[in-house]
Amino acid sequence: MEKPFIYMDNAATTKTSDSCFNAMLPYIQQNYGNPSSIYSIAHVAKAAVEGARKKASAAIGALPEEIFFTSCATESDNWAIKCGAKLGLDQGKNQIITTNFEHHAVLNACKNLESNGFEVIYLPVDKDGLISPKQVEEAITEKTALVTVMYANNEIGTVLPIPEIGAICRQKGVLFHTDAVQAIGHVEIDVHKQNIDMLSISGHKIHAPKGVGLLYVNKKINLPNLLDGGAQERGRRGGTENVAYIVALGQALEDCAKNIEVREKKIEILRNKIVESVLNEVPKVRVNGSMKHRLSGNVNFSFEGVEGESILLLLDSFGICASSGSACTSGSLDPSHVLLAIGLPHETAHGSLRISLCAENTEKEVDYVIETIPKVISRLREMSPVWNG
Ligand code: PLP
Repeated sequence: MEKPFIYMDNAATTKTSDSCFNAMLPYIQQNYGNPSSIYSIAHVAKAAVEGARKKASAAIGALPEEIFFTSCATESDNWAIKCGAKLGLDQGKNQIITTNFEHHAVLNACKNLESNGFEVIYLPVDKDGLISPKQVEEAITEKTALVTVMYANNEIGTVLPIPEIGAICRQKGVLFHTDAVQAIGHVEIDVHKQNIDMLSISGHKIHAPKGVGLLYVNKKINLPNLLDGGAQERGRRGGTENVAYIVALGQALEDCAKNIEVREKKIEILRNKIVESVLNEVPKVRVNGSMKHRLSGNVNFSFEGVEGESILLLLDSFGICASSGSACTSGSLDPSHVLLAIGLPHETAHGSLRISLCAENTEKEVDYVIETIPKVISRLREMSPVWNG
């Protein structure tokens, strides 16, 4: 029998959709002009970038002039955090508030600020992988330059109370950034209604290609530049625009804002089938993170007595792509900082499996996965020196 190919690692990256691929193609070999030039193919390219800006702004309730295209969400996060901090410093503020389970793009930008004299408060998430708006409220002082809290966690998929945190920051006059890389397309986002000052998005998590992202910046904020250069992005982010990929990102955002409820419900039903089956079929397993406040396509299991890496290798041999921890840190032997943050012991934090679905996944694929996981876990446990179940 031919080995199937089942991709359930959509939190790591997604397949470029037909609609994004078709939208970007004319800007590679046909309308390849530099948007800053003055002849026709350049005008076409410039118009395409502005069209993408409109689509992107409409998808998140922003104004087109509040959208700045970047090379990835890591750049967007660094820009918002380092330059948001700089704005605060100009007003004598040197404190940043974040959580202890952010993506490394945020955590390491904060570490950089710490080494430059900032105080960073890492709010602890609870055992369900959540923080409360009250924790943020109590942490804010007159020294707080910026609050940065992720919209949804990339490993355990928990969705944080961003509109409520935004309201507190607005009331206290503190700048508020959220990394919405995992949430966008899965949760309704309206930056103005939700009091969000800055928000980061990555193309490759929503079926656009890798290497394009954006930062939304509320028009009232005069955020200093991270990249100084030419006049692109109204002088706020130098560098010749990645036209084709920007077009794809605009398309992806337009696509994912459509039918969000219906699509997410379908994904959730498939995800719940996996959760129920694994909890029934496999002993000594737990689901990490709140099931109530969670992205519809995410589940993160910890299996006692087995290593995450070995689960992934064996699943791969069955044609299933999943992940253990985030894609950026797999390959490192450190236990997941997210699982440690929700209170798991080191040995359990090493043995996790993240499955992340998208709308393309089918019931047939789910059935194969739920048939395979128990086989994989019991085979690994038979070989495990630490399993005594
Ligand atoms: N933030 C979160 C929550 C992510 O999941 C990721 C990617 O895994 C990033 C930021 C970084 O995105 P990019 O790959 O576009 O730099």
